Amino acid sequence: MSLIARRIRVSGIVQGVGFRPFVWRLAQELQLSGWVRNDALGVEIAAQGSASQMAALLERLRSEAPVLARVDNVQTREAVPAALVTFSILPSVTGQSSTAIGPDVAVCPDCLAELFDPTHRRWRHAFITCTHCGPRYTVTRALPYDRPQTSMAPFPLCPQCEREYLTPADRRFHAETTCCPQCGPQLSLSHLDGRTIEGDAIAATLELLRSGAIVAIKGLGGFHLACDARNSAAVARLRLRKNREAKPFAVMTANVASLAPYASVAAHERALLEGRERPVVLLPATSQGVQALEGVAPGLQNLGVMLPSTPIHFLLFHEAAGRPSGVDWLSAAQELVLVMTSANPGGEPIVRDTTEARSRLAGIADALLDHDRDIVARCDDSVLRPLARGSQFIRRSRGYAPLPIRLPGSGPSVLAFGAHLKNCVCVTRGDHAFASPHIGDLDNAATCEFLDETVERLLQLLDVKPELVAHDLHPHYDSTQAALAFAARYGLPTVAVQHHHAHIAAVCAEHARRGPVLGLALDGLGLGSDGTAWGGELLLVDGAQFERLGHLRTLPLPGGDKAAREPWRMAAAVLHELGRNADIGKRFTQAGSSIVAQLLRQNLNCPRSSSMGRVFDAVSGLLGLCDQMDYEAQAAIFLEQAATRHIELHGWPKAIDSGWSITSDGQLDLLPLLATLDAAADVDQAAAVFHATLVDALASWVARAAEAGGVKTLSWGGGCFLNSLLSSGLRKNLEQIGIAVLAPQRLSPGDASIAVGQAWIAINAKDG
Ligand SMILES: [Zn+2]
Ligand SMILES: [Zn+2]
Repeated sequence: MSLIARRIRVSGIVQGVGFRPFVWRLAQELQLSGWVRNDALGVEIAAQGSASQMAALLERLRSEAPVLARVDNVQTREAVPAALVTFSILPSVTGQSSTAIGPDVAVCPDCLAELFDPTHRRWRHAFITCTHCGPRYTVTRALPYDRPQTSMAPFPLCPQCEREYLTPADRRFHAETTCCPQCGPQLSLSHLDGRTIEGDAIAATLELLRSGAIVAIKGLGGFHLACDARNSAAVARLRLRKNREAKPFAVMTANVASLAPYASVAAHERALLEGRERPVVLLPATSQGVQALEGVAPGLQNLGVMLPSTPIHFLLFHEAAGRPSGVDWLSAAQELVLVMTSANPGGEPIVRDTTEARSRLAGIADALLDHDRDIVARCDDSVLRPLARGSQFIRRSRGYAPLPIRLPGSGPSVLAFGAHLKNCVCVTRGDHAFASPHIGDLDNAATCEFLDETVERLLQLLDVKPELVAHDLHPHYDSTQAALAFAARYGLPTVAVQHHHAHIAAVCAEHARRGPVLGLALDGLGLGSDGTAWGGELLLVDGAQFERLGHLRTLPLPGGDKAAREPWRMAAAVLHELGRNADIGKRFTQAGSSIVAQLLRQNLNCPRSSSMGRVFDAVSGLLGLCDQMDYEAQAAIFLEQAATRHIELHGWPKAIDSGWSITSDGQLDLLPLLATLDAAADVDQAAAVFHATLVDALASWVARAAEAGGVKTLSWGGGCFLNSLLSSGLRKNLEQIGIAVLAPQRLSPGDASIAVGQAWIAINAKDG
């Protein structure tokens, strides 16, 4: 047998995921000699053996990689065989980093088996974890990912844990967050004023929840507020204390079986719920569920559900089930249903540490279920909406961020600051774009601070010095201000990117699409390059360049920003545009309706916008579905629900052919359609007719542009595409006429993806 030797470099997410012991086990099995080690570029392997053993190693490095690993690249070069007889794991080499930190994921089945085994030393241990599960992003201060660089640093390993940590065959070999009841963090339950609540923290928490109390529970990326979801008085109290009238809460059940009374779960929805990322998944609620969980999601047909992800969650359900031994109970239906909502009072970032919790949650929570492991970085829950095909991100955060998106090309490192609402930032390194977890709406100082903190942290974790800063065209956004301040501090060039151009570029980036595409951007508002507010745009996008081919007929926004929160104002604006200004006072009983009519008549404080979002608001207002919004997009959600109710019973209605027109300069006018909706007798049917006609109108608009310019691929983006009637209807319509659709998949269609789009445009601008 002739001996061959190779140096193998593996890059991707290969640290902190059990990759070295995996290589070590493979090498033992294949009888290869050599070594494996971590370095700043990923994992390096020296292997020697026969040609067939080597081929098997290279094949299995990819096909059998540990669950949390992501192998992006395997490079091999020939080496000179050395006098090695064994295979060993060498110490890490530090240096400039090009590796990535993984996201936080749910407890794995092996750890669950130990957690509920009364004879195991980690029975009911609230911090159980191994190389295949647990926190990563939220506990890591810097790379390389080693225990002293994490918030586990203050917890030295006991001899037993250390033995596991040093044994290559153990699944806790170099599991940086591993610990046990003897050496790990400790749970504590206390009142908000700091007085300890005696007894077993889990048992006492469950007792409080069952008595209707609101308990703040420390999670991986911040505190949740929890209460018994079946106790409507507790839910009402939480709403009152949180000053949150109608915005839906997510709930947590032990497993899918426990959901049966509340929501129906299809196979692909189950896979999303049970995935190790553990997002909140929007599911169709049963009518019984709506009743039983009164006040959890007022007026909504969907229920946001997540399954337990941390050992603390599992222990609460375990306690409620009567502390059973073994894991059989994990698949049996359990009665406990908890509201689990982010503790982020006043729209500020999610509460992260104890001192903060005691002050910010005073008056909201009755007790704190806390522990002494720090949360290094905040990370909110991710939210997904299942579609007929795949799913759509409403928020991409815990479990997914900061996994990178592969760009279709590389360029200088860009730091992009994103939009004003649902802000996320993005850093590029080579051909990877790292989108941050959810930061939030930049309308308060605390969230703006969180933005700066996230930028600093991402740059440090990724070891990137940006060469270019990208930001929104709007000069007054806090994200723009932060970008300009950052660029000034480091003397960096800046690129200003139009909001809707960025929406389309984000989709092109994730689909690795180069070359021209048509772009359909439908959202709330973004500053256009002509200084007006855009939001219903048909663009031709080619890398760093774009052309506005057309837009929705503009509508006045009476009262400016107020019009975005009060759909009846948009409905009034439609009546005005239809020449029915005199009807506004009679039609709308709201205080101020005569003033709104006057503003419109005199064109005072009525900026015009081509926003699609405001059209949805107007229709919702005209149909009396929503006059005043308690949360963003509420009017559009109610409108979609009404249409869905009709379509589920009767199928899609016929579109109104005369409902729209396209002007010679590319404006799409939906006013004739809107005229038919006012005071409709059957609201659900009218909502469905609106959707059917809108889909027809948009498809014809796109088809006309495709014919004129010869570009047959459409990318779409913008928050309006969270409406699944719109997205599924339009896709079907366009594919029938031979237009390929690129839709957001790994990013949200909403403003959270703006930063990735800005970054990709900045890279292209540098090239061009
Ligand atoms: Zn595990
Ligand atoms: Zn220990």
